[in-house]
Amino acid sequence: MINANPRQIEVLLPTVVEHGFDYLMPEGVTLHAGDIVTVPFGRKETLGVVWGAGKANIPEGKMKCVLQHLDQFPPLSESMRQFIDWTAWYNCAPKGAILKMVLPMDDIMKEGRKGTAAFIETNINAANIRLAHLSDIQTQAAEKLTQCLGQGFSVQLLDGVTGSGKTEVYFEAIAKTLATPHSQCLIMLPEIALSIQWLERFEKRFGFKPVVWNSEITPARKRESWKAISKGDAPVVVGARSGLFLPYKHLSLIIADEEHDGSYKQEEGVIYHARDMAVARARFEKIPVILASATPSLESYHNAQAGKYKEITLSARHNDAVMPTVEMLDMRSVELERGAFISRPLRDQLAKALADGHQSMLFLNRRGYAPLLLCRACGHRFQCPDCSAWMVVHKKKGSPNQQPTAQNSYLQCHHCSYRIPFPKTCPTCQAEDKLAACGPGVERLLEEVHEFLPSARVAVMASDSMGYTEINETIRAMTDKRLDLLIGTQMIAKGHHFSDLAIVGVVDADLGLAGGDLRAAERTYQMLHQLSGRAGREQIQGRVYMQSFLPEHPVIKALVSGDRNAFLAAELKARKNANMPPFTRLAALIVEGEKEELVMKTAKILASTFPTSPQLHLYGPAPAPLFLLRGKFRFRLLIKAERQINLPKLMKEWVDVQEAPSSVRIKTDIDPQNFL
Ligand code: ADP
Ligand code: ZN
Repeated sequence: MINANPRQIEVLLPTVVEHGFDYLMPEGVTLHAGDIVTVPFGRKETLGVVWGAGKANIPEGKMKCVLQHLDQFPPLSESMRQFIDWTAWYNCAPKGAILKMVLPMDDIMKEGRKGTAAFIETNINAANIRLAHLSDIQTQAAEKLTQCLGQGFSVQLLDGVTGSGKTEVYFEAIAKTLATPHSQCLIMLPEIALSIQWLERFEKRFGFKPVVWNSEITPARKRESWKAISKGDAPVVVGARSGLFLPYKHLSLIIADEEHDGSYKQEEGVIYHARDMAVARARFEKIPVILASATPSLESYHNAQAGKYKEITLSARHNDAVMPTVEMLDMRSVELERGAFISRPLRDQLAKALADGHQSMLFLNRRGYAPLLLCRACGHRFQCPDCSAWMVVHKKKGSPNQQPTAQNSYLQCHHCSYRIPFPKTCPTCQAEDKLAACGPGVERLLEEVHEFLPSARVAVMASDSMGYTEINETIRAMTDKRLDLLIGTQMIAKGHHFSDLAIVGVVDADLGLAGGDLRAAERTYQMLHQLSGRAGREQIQGRVYMQSFLPEHPVIKALVSGDRNAFLAAELKARKNANMPPFTRLAALIVEGEKEELVMKTAKILASTFPTSPQLHLYGPAPAPLFLLRGKFRFRLLIKAERQINLPKLMKEWVDVQEAPSSVRIKTDIDPQNFL
């Protein structure tokens, strides 16, 4: 070791850097690993965290000195630092980029800041905590579940059918954890929309508000929350993915609700899977983690079968509510009016529910009015100039039921948000009045419903059209029965509890199966099963109708039969036969840049330097399905490795030595979920 200077330390900065920089400790000050400091960096003063002894061989005179020790903040614990190191290593991401998620605001520690301090509730009043009244099977599940508390690291898969009361059961684990002073619980929910009903239930049960951590909170609240969390003053934190990276003082329990949900995968910036990172974090903190779902991911299900995770099942709905019936409507033979997308039998069911005073949902995982605009004269299709994607037709808000026109509509790319007015003529053949909106989106369903159920109170819920407040308002309107029918994309499929929901209609059950990537079947099953699970959660019998052109498809058949475990077993077997995850591991490289030639060349060089081994397999390079995205050309390489291979190490040794042109970016995606 060349480190001769005991005052030399490594300081990691929350910015995209692979490792820390060396600084000197100030005269007469001793700093320890984890201490939060400020240092000069370039011309600026920036935050940093002492990572350990310095290593670089730099003459003392050339080294800068740490400016200040922010000792009003607890140091990052060893387990936290290990987690940061490990997360960076596992995901092939720069360490500093992970630290940035831990210290998300530059000004987080600045003292004497003006502005309204946000109030964070930090005291639990035991008198306000209500006792749970669990059913017998819930009590048994809760007893099994809570055995893990205080016993170090373990993973429990809380596998309960929709409406079985998983939330109530894991609330018991929270209650027990909070009984020990200074404990902190983190609950991750995959979608902000889900937190609304959840927060109300939590407050009812525990009598206080948890700290909410997501992209919607104000900077002031974020700062206050961060401080409370780091000082151990926030007993319960509920958040999205990013809540996982906060420096809890006494983290005692992590819960990942809807653990199968695809939005746990962060696809921008640092690419990571928050559910998997939650398990890792629990391992470093030596605490239990609970994964809850009615449709566990194949990975978690497989781990439970293998005995790595403890499985706790709830096999019936709470309070004698029965599971919904699922019926397939074979679109090859079912009656459909011209220009309509909702078949006669589904319309009849929606009409009946309305007449009976019950609620319904219509699901179509397509935002906008129509997914494609086509010229009927020459066949021209409107494409985004910067993406390999069609421009989606959107109706302006409040336009009446009419064909889309230049007055009432516009076109938008769903990948880059590029927007143009609805064209008057075809740019290729100049034909007028020949432009046809093809296929349905949720906005178009709304118009169709207005036609055949004119008296129904209907709303659309889709992520692009709504902010948090509007989503909140729509969910409340549904809960308070001020709506008869909710039309929506995947946002309506998850977690919600609407007591009077009788009918769920799936307009296109085949949509997610097209293209058929590795996870298409699993994902489609999870989404449609979760969606079905919204129906009939209390007194009324729920009925689900799925319109499909592929009634023989195993996913559709499994949804109708309701035999989830048979589906999972078949899917696992197929994965095993194809030697695919969870039996092997995948990593993807996405090579992208504005110059197609250079991107392709880089991808080819990468392929040519890929190490050969019988335990490794390389697919590609191939143009990505989204070949052009935001003006960048994209090639993909997919690596499959036997499980004993050290994948991050392999990726590092292979990719990091490549000298890619500066205009070309290589992104590593470990355990890829999407293949776009
Ligand atoms: P899941 O998450 O398994 O789909 P939930 O936890 O949302 O199920 O429970 C479904 C519904 O049943 C919720 O409205 C919940 O409040 C209610 N519920 C479940 N268990 C109980 C219980 N023990 N006492 C009262 N209500 C319960
Ligand atoms: Zn685009």
